[in-house]
Amino acid sequence: MADTLNTRILVIDDDPFFLKILSRQLNNLGYPDVVTCTQAEEGLTILRKEPSAYGVVLCDLSMPGMDGIEFLRYLSRTEFTGGLILISGQDSRILESAQRLAKAHKLNILGAVGKPVTSSLLAGILQRVIKVSAKGKAGSLSRKYTGEELRRALDQGELINHYQPQVAVDTGKLVAVEALVRWCHPVDGMVFPDTFINLAEEYDLIDRLTQQVLAQGLRFIAGWDGINLSVNVSMDSMTNLDYPEYVMQATEDAKVNPKRLVLEVTESRLMKDRLSSLDNLTRLRLKEIGLSIDDFGTGHSSLAQLRDIPFNELKIDRGFTHGVAENSALQAIFEASLGMAKHLGMTCVAEGVEDEIDWQFLRNTGCDLAQGYFVGKPMAPEDLPRWCADWELRVQKS
Ligand code: C2E
Ligand code: MG
Ligand code: MG
Repeated sequence: MADTLNTRILVIDDDPFFLKILSRQLNNLGYPDVVTCTQAEEGLTILRKEPSAYGVVLCDLSMPGMDGIEFLRYLSRTEFTGGLILISGQDSRILESAQRLAKAHKLNILGAVGKPVTSSLLAGILQRVIKVSAKGKAGSLSRKYTGEELRRALDQGELINHYQPQVAVDTGKLVAVEALVRWCHPVDGMVFPDTFINLAEEYDLIDRLTQQVLAQGLRFIAGWDGINLSVNVSMDSMTNLDYPEYVMQATEDAKVNPKRLVLEVTESRLMKDRLSSLDNLTRLRLKEIGLSIDDFGTGHSSLAQLRDIPFNELKIDRGFTHGVAENSALQAIFEASLGMAKHLGMTCVAEGVEDEIDWQFLRNTGCDLAQGYFVGKPMAPEDLPRWCADWELRVQKS
């Protein structure tokens, strides 16, 4: 498994004894090529000189001299694109903050481990190297696109919808699908929205993109009674005061009852024009189109929005769902968000239901809908019938 990838590992920790033990553990897990150093400065020098020579870096957080957090900052300015694993003897919340920081630096963080490091945990995290490098090969991780390329893709119809199921927590029944756009790039293969949604906003292409996604999605559910459609919309699109009419026209063209459509909103950038957005969103609700506050609990989706906008659905961000059963801080946030949704008479959707433990946790909470890899990954429309059959069997057993 390990030999087709760059599995050379650099370990940075100020404790030479720990380095020795960890190297041995890595060797035993099938990673023979391990280089160690006791100072972050030294590690940086190595990575600056040969950024692609290492597939993975493991780094301790608390070290005399340059600490792990400073290391992350400097590392993000190098050409290193491999995986990163953080190690710490400190409280797990510090490790979690450090992971978030690494993500914000756009580093390829694979995970974090507390000391003492267990081999099974390490093996699990290192497995992710394989997934990440497979994604990297498709070219979608690092490549940046231009507005012109995206415009051409829209003209050529290269953007297609994938759909992720949303199921009722109590019965397991399929209730809705969320349309998630993919760019089928002729050379790079499948490109994910995180690489081009901002670009679309920047180059004023976001309205065209949403139009295509909406029309495709409505056509898809038109013949599928009882299944609703969620579509992500950018706040940028909300400044145009004809927006509600446009959406109503799209539902009419597809002969879909507007009640079956939910628009998911996040505040990706500061609302350009607060008043117009509020005007549009309120009118959309008057027309009985659903409004969902996406990624609730993150910086972009705040209490102020919940106060001001007549949302009827709240999506708890996956950052508060996955792992909630074992983490009391997540539980507090999850339950508060759910409670708020219920008080306000909103439907509550948990995003990021990644495993059986997350799913079982939800079943005791009163949360309405679940969405996430455990239920089903976003998939091409032709794969949904097979997913339905498979899910029915799985949910009966769970
Ligand atoms: P989102 O609306 O919050 O969509 C959920 C994202 O989480 C999707 O990523 C989905 O693949 C991923 N996801 C689903 N289940 C799980 C899980 O269990 N675990 C984890 N770790 N992730 C999960 P995707 O498709 O890459 O989309 C990313 C974001 O791009 C979306 O976040 C949405 O904000 C934006 N986006 C996608 N399609 C559109 C679109 O048509 N228009 C606009 N404006 N934005 C879009
Ligand atoms: Mg969404
Ligand atoms: Mg979301």
